Amino acid sequence: MSHSAFIGLGSNMADPAAQLVSAMNAIDRLPQTRVLARSGLYRSAPIGFLEQADFINAVVRIETSLSPHELLQALLALEQLQGRTREFQNAPRTLDLDVLLYDDLQHHEHGLTVPHPQMHKRAFVLQPLLEIAPDCVIPGVGTVRQAMQHCADQQLQRLH
Ligand code: ADP
Ligand code: MG
Repeated sequence: MSHSAFIGLGSNMADPAAQLVSAMNAIDRLPQTRVLARSGLYRSAPIGFLEQADFINAVVRIETSLSPHELLQALLALEQLQGRTREFQNAPRTLDLDVLLYDDLQHHEHGLTVPHPQMHKRAFVLQPLLEIAPDCVIPGVGTVRQAMQHCADQQLQRLH
């Protein structure tokens, strides 16, 4: 399993914390994939569409032999298994799984952009990422620590 990747998890429906734990376990059971580290769970306010419940977010580090495309397809399938629907952009969701980083890959095409294009602006991604990878670098952007300094105004609460 020669590749290292980070997955961002989010949920704000149907017991979000349980959705995240069950998604982490499901990621660990994906073929040729193992979860190496799990961040704690964080509570964040919704963005874009504000009339919805707070989100619970986390990040996991994996090692995998899946390609970036195979990994994304597997994650989208797990979203479906946990009841994900897509009514509109930024709508409430039972589970959102994003490929944040894949080795030091920089890749952009319709349907798959790595690093995830919004990750460096979002405290709910950066803070859990820092927890499990303090020296992490976002290719083309800089260190996670630096990016987090620009997000200091975003409210985020680590759950116990
Ligand atoms: P968002 O996560 O921005 O709220 P969605 O989860 O609905 O939105 O994702 C929409 C599409 O984004 C997915 O179908 C996927 O093809 C695409 N996408 C592009 N790059 C990535 C990535 N790095 N991780 C996850 N999805 C991605
Ligand atoms: Mg997504």
